[in-house]
Amino acid sequence: MPNYDYECEKCGKRFEIFQSMNDAKLTDCPQPGCGGKVKRLLGTGGGIIFKGAGFYQTDYRSSSYQAGAKADGAASAPPPAAPTAPTAAPKSAE
Ligand SMILES: [Zn+2]
Repeated sequence: MPNYDYECEKCGKRFEIFQSMNDAKLTDCPQPGCGGKVKRLLGTGGGIIFKGAGFYQTDYRSSSYQAGAKADGAASAPPPAAPTAPTAAPKSAE
């Protein structure tokens, strides 16, 4: 089961969720009283394996991710790097 890293755009809280690909992606911050929108972090090491796989995350990325990228712009040079991934998805032969 893939694990996804999310970051709240409001309070900045980061959390990791293990969920099925069939599960709906998280959109709201689980922090009580926050209710901010969360975005999925793509630089979790295993992110590349999702590319081109047709996951719904691509359209999620196009809206939220790019909006964030635009906002940051030149301020932050490198894209969000992998936040300490406890289990760096082993490239299992599959
Ligand atoms: Zn939040």
